[in-house]
Amino acid sequence: MPTRSLDDFALRKLADLDARGLRRTLAESAREDGIFVTRDGRRLLSFSCNDYLNLTHHPAVKAAAIEAIGRYGAGAGASRLVTGNHPLFEALEARLARLKQTEAACIFGSGYLANAGIAPVFAGAGDLIVIDELAHACLWAGARLSAARTLTFRHNDAAHAADLLARHRAGSGRALLVTDGVFSMDGDLAPLPELAAICAAHDVWLLTDDAHGLGVIGAGRGSAFAARTAIPLQMGTLSKAIGGYGGYLCASKAVIDLVKTRSRTLIYSTALPPAMAGAAIAALDLIEANPKLTEAPLVKARAFTSRLGLPPAQSPIVPLVTGTPEAALKASATLAEEGFLVAAIRPPTVPQGTARLRFAFTAAHSDEDVARLAAAVQKILDPARAEPLCPRFS
Ligand SMILES: *Cc1c(COP(=O)(O)O)cnc(C)c1O
Repeated sequence: MPTRSLDDFALRKLADLDARGLRRTLAESAREDGIFVTRDGRRLLSFSCNDYLNLTHHPAVKAAAIEAIGRYGAGAGASRLVTGNHPLFEALEARLARLKQTEAACIFGSGYLANAGIAPVFAGAGDLIVIDELAHACLWAGARLSAARTLTFRHNDAAHAADLLARHRAGSGRALLVTDGVFSMDGDLAPLPELAAICAAHDVWLLTDDAHGLGVIGAGRGSAFAARTAIPLQMGTLSKAIGGYGGYLCASKAVIDLVKTRSRTLIYSTALPPAMAGAAIAALDLIEANPKLTEAPLVKARAFTSRLGLPPAQSPIVPLVTGTPEAALKASATLAEEGFLVAAIRPPTVPQGTARLRFAFTAAHSDEDVARLAAAVQKILDPARAEPLCPRFS
């Protein structure tokens, strides 16, 4: 029996989203290699996957996952604190700590779960969190769950963060400053040296989310490494360049020991499937053995920004702001006709008025792919001046 008021609520809400171009729907997307996506029977070259190193389909990564399933089964069976702490997890944590040059690491079920679980361990009622206005949704979730007073600083504006701390730090207990290392929808980097200096001056703990830094920035070690800045709380994900699934925190041994006994998203959620730890270890082997591979996505992104006369890419992510959601959807549809998958990103994922195309470049995109994409985008930007398009991709 449907509950009438509940369905009415859902239908009204959907109609409202439809009217504003903001409804989201799921499109079945089969990925049978590290670069193409099949949708509605069409094979599109994807510039929307975060599989920067194409490791989701690397034979060594798949083989490691299969081997772990053979040995430990499909699921972990329980929380890590109960019986789910398979031997591969500590091996993976040691590898992450080594790569990030921290004393210790803790893996979580996902990046979202990591961020929902980290901030509440270190801040609570009476404490303070200052957060970049464009920080990822799950950093905001962690801030909310912490019950700490949360103040927003303007995007990448270290002076604004310093000003907020000068005015509000004294009246609170502990304090965290929270930011993405590489911003997921803008592709720019946080000013980590400046933020770290401000944190040191005000006794504030810096938490960075490096979901889009690991594997592709700083020789694969992430944005803290690229900025040569010591950061006490370095969070990230295994779901992007690492090619699998899961989240992590790298930090000192004391901090990790506390997280392992206090973080609710670690304690009250089943451990990762062991296969994901096996796959991640294999991916880290590849990353550590091939520093050149980690540089490739940024090289492709820079080739694209240079062709279009955009500011040089700072990461493999390049935004092209269209303004309205409708314009972003239309541009995305036009590129799909040319054989490219480039997702339209709309509010509330990005602020009102900044709907955009978001391009993500990977190691396996050829120079020719990038050139054809740039030509197709140029045609959308400036139909009159565009060079003739290369032969249609099939
Ligand atoms: C994708 C993403 C996450 C979430 O990681 P998952 O492992 O996919 O849950 C967290 N932070 C940022 C910046 C991200 O882009």
